[in-house]
Amino acid sequence: RAKAQSGSYLIYEAGMRQQQSRSIALAQRLKQALADGQLELHYQPKVDTITGKLHGVEALARWRDPQWGWVSPAEFIPVAEERGLIGALDAWALETAARQWRQWQDDGWAQVPPIAVNVSAVEISMVEGFAEHALALVQRHRVPPQAIELEITETALMRNAEKAIQTTRQLVAMGFSLAIDDFGTGYSSLARLHRLSLARLKIDMTFIRTMLDDAGSMAIVTAVIGMARALQLRTVAEGVETAAQLDTLRRLQCDEIQGYFFSKPLPARELEERWLCAVDA
Ligand code: C2E
Ligand code: CA
Ligand code: CA
Ligand code: CA
Repeated sequence: RAKAQSGSYLIYEAGMRQQQSRSIALAQRLKQALADGQLELHYQPKVDTITGKLHGVEALARWRDPQWGWVSPAEFIPVAEERGLIGALDAWALETAARQWRQWQDDGWAQVPPIAVNVSAVEISMVEGFAEHALALVQRHRVPPQAIELEITETALMRNAEKAIQTTRQLVAMGFSLAIDDFGTGYSSLARLHRLSLARLKIDMTFIRTMLDDAGSMAIVTAVIGMARALQLRTVAEGVETAAQLDTLRRLQCDEIQGYFFSKPLPARELEERWLCAVDA
């Protein structure tokens, strides 16, 4: 037994080492890809539950390595956070989104949607002058902060609460709109979040995925939407894939829907073709 155990430990250790070297290699490539402009943003619509109208889009990072093919953000974002690249990556995403918004405006699309950008917990809670940098960046691209929404996860706000809350207040005062991402996965009180003047609450997709089979999830979704409504916070359901989920969310009076049922995240050009409206001549 002892032998088997030590054997599996060795395998475990080798696995760890392999994982670690993949993570180091990945970080090196990611750094290079950022420098070479090989990352892209795709945009996923957020749609009004009742009218089907486009309310905004979420910008999501996409990376295709020449050798490895597509690498999921679920893999490279944590690596970027661990290895000190997340600041550069998030700044790149904010800049790319701002440039895209300006481009859509200049190209004459009617009602260019606000673009939501993800901000890592590391950034919001640790970086000095984050808000000032963000403002300077959008202004450089002649984009009003109102056109940019920043998505911060619930757990990020809990991590270094004082600092994160201070930065959040600053961003709101500057005119950025703020959304709490992955809501329901932490333990924040809605009453406290309410004092931050947030624009949106995004209900984590694990609850949406399970709500029709699991009474607990349904109770959480129902309660979150109910409380958010009472506090005049807009709710967004993430990961909506089926008509049955949409119907339920409509009945619960959730405000906005994001998910494959309406659209996957799309390259800018495809979003234009399918979702933006030309100004009629
Ligand atoms: P997130 O912010 O919660 O983004 C939503 C994720 O759900 C995206 O995954 C999106 O493609 C996926 N999704 C949307 N609708 C559906 C659906 O109906 N079904 C399913 N199964 N999935 C759906 P993605 O693009 O792989 O991103 C994963 C995570 O990586 C994001 O989760 C976000 O936390 C992070 N991320 C992506 N881009 C950035 C970025 O530029 N900066 C930072 N800091 N994080 C990013
Ligand atoms: Ca997000
Ligand atoms: Ca989310
Ligand atoms: Ca997430």
